[in-house]
Amino acid sequence: MAALATYGARPGGVSYTGRGPWRRPAEGGLRDWRVMLDWLIIGGGIHGTHLSRVLTADVGVDAAKVRVLDPHAEPLQRWRECTRNCGMEFLRSPLEDHIADDPLSLFMYRRDHGTHTTTHLARNRGRAALTVFNDHADGVIRRCRLRDLRVQGRATGLTRVARGIGVDTDAGRIEARRVLLAMGLTEQLRYPDWVAGLHAGCAQHVGAPGFDIAAVGAWDRCVVIGGAMTAAQTAVALARTGRGEVTLLSRGNLRRHDYDTDAEWLRPTGPARLADEPDFDRRRVVVESGRHPGSVTSDVEAAVELAVGLGRLRHTFGDVVDAKALSDGSVRLEFAVGEPITTDRLLIATGFDSRRPGGEWVDTAVEELGLPTAACGYPIVDARLEWGSGVYVCGPLAELELGPAALNIAGARLAGRRLATMGPT
Ligand SMILES: Cc1cc2nc3c(=O)[nH]c(=O)nc-3n(C[C@H](O)[C@H](O)[C@H](O)COP(=O)(O)OP(=O)(O)OC[C@H]3O[C@@H](n4cnc5c(N)ncnc54)[C@H](O)[C@@H]3O)c2cc1C
Repeated sequence: MAALATYGARPGGVSYTGRGPWRRPAEGGLRDWRVMLDWLIIGGGIHGTHLSRVLTADVGVDAAKVRVLDPHAEPLQRWRECTRNCGMEFLRSPLEDHIADDPLSLFMYRRDHGTHTTTHLARNRGRAALTVFNDHADGVIRRCRLRDLRVQGRATGLTRVARGIGVDTDAGRIEARRVLLAMGLTEQLRYPDWVAGLHAGCAQHVGAPGFDIAAVGAWDRCVVIGGAMTAAQTAVALARTGRGEVTLLSRGNLRRHDYDTDAEWLRPTGPARLADEPDFDRRRVVVESGRHPGSVTSDVEAAVELAVGLGRLRHTFGDVVDAKALSDGSVRLEFAVGEPITTDRLLIATGFDSRRPGGEWVDTAVEELGLPTAACGYPIVDARLEWGSGVYVCGPLAELELGPAALNIAGARLAGRRLATMGPT
């Protein structure tokens, strides 16, 4: 086993007691002290980044003792990739949902910096353009120095150590009094079963890390598979390029819901309802019944209708039962009923798998740390989102406590309120 090593950070910052190589210590000089972190947040997307701000700026935890572990170079990188690739123009969530403190912060930022016409804004009342949301988030990250908290690496295991949790990472070992699991779902791509029968490269998932819609090569006939926001927006964005024929292939008609959960779950009163339900199987039913998976906003539905009306986009309904790679590199999609479709650019936009995030290393931690789970495999946590001594969760991992919006930006804010009740120590 590698010798125990101490890794430093910026002056006045924290150092890590670790084993193995340290890929990217926080910039700045080294400081030779051995101290446990107060908090290590695993995952630096919207949730991990927002909660690092809550802990350091709102709650007053010493920033030198908080770190965010994430494999990506940039905060919110998966968010930016996924939203860019589907050509998303406006957020689906209300203006109160962002990573700053003041609920009105994004509203005021949009008022002062938004460049959209009043007609455009009227149609998207109460929601921010993606560019405005991202610029606002960049400002929060800069002002609160959240980039300084980031450590680039991936968690691979959790163990209990004296006074805290040891986190094995591909960048060495980090110890913290508390660990917050903020991994999200965006690494768990969902594919239709029939894709398994195709060679790698025949189909591209628009949510895959590294996928770049702008780099998709030429096509004659592109097919986008899926019936929710990502599929509809991707198809419309590609159709607008006029580079070739585009077909949106969904199982049925688009289902319209302006938000992907019932509105009651966006505010703290929603989750309070769950607290009265001691049966976690019934909580799971409540969580699922508050969601509108596979739905689109009225704007996106209208954009699909417009593109179809203008003859730029085909919208076809059907359930693919098999797919065959053809010798010329194209793919034939076959249906139980109806004619097959052949495509030379097959894009999968069926979202993310809702299994418990984390995979094997979290499975092992559940066993070894005795972390309680419901029958669905998801964490049973207390009101402070503590899963087991020193292990906290947010995002989808907290959905049996925070409800169906746990994985949304609203869920990050709900989690922030819960963590804030703990105070700085
Ligand atoms: C296209 C799209 C549009 C959306 N629009 C909205 C919207 O308008 N409003 C809304 O409220 N919600 C929206 N959502 C839902 C949700 O808010 C976003 O998916 C959001 O990015 C989730 O943030 P997150 O931090 O939970 O997850 P992520 O963005 O996935 O971040 C998690 C991070 O954890 C990292 N990670 C994973 N495993 C490890 C590990 N072992 N060690 C270290 N790091 C790890 C990942 O690499 C990633 O960087 C949208 C989602 C998508 C895909």
